[in-house]
Amino acid sequence: MIEHAKQAIITYNTMRHARGGIDTLYSFILSDSGQIHDGACYEPNIAQATVCGERHAIANMILQESYAAKIKSIVVADPVPEVQKRSTPPCGTCRHLIWSHGSPTTTVLLLQYIQGKSGWTFPKLEKYTIQDLYPLPYEPDEHLWEPK
Ligand SMILES: [Zn+2]
Repeated sequence: MIEHAKQAIITYNTMRHARGGIDTLYSFILSDSGQIHDGACYEPNIAQATVCGERHAIANMILQESYAAKIKSIVVADPVPEVQKRSTPPCGTCRHLIWSHGSPTTTVLLLQYIQGKSGWTFPKLEKYTIQDLYPLPYEPDEHLWEPK
């Protein structure tokens, strides 16, 4: 999974740079079936249309495997100028989506990567579970006000 992520980041970034683009945040999902789904942050010229890399990877998982698929593990890989004390975690909405398309033990791997003169390096990897990052999930009870 991590090896897939590193190779894919190099492949996608090499393609983007060749076409005048820059590095971005990527996400990779290992589903419960063993398939890997890639995603990248979508940053169009309308800010509110931005799609997080995590959500792109989740949408790809659902496209390929339906809503029955579950996230076993997700990598969030963010470009940094130098090693950061804290890696970029998923935003609040993505934490909820990872939780709802996974299980409490779904692992969230935060990977920092740096563009150097001769390619990309991956100096730091942090491991959490979604429960660590989202301990109090939003779970409204649809039947709360129904008579018992
Ligand atoms: Zn997000």
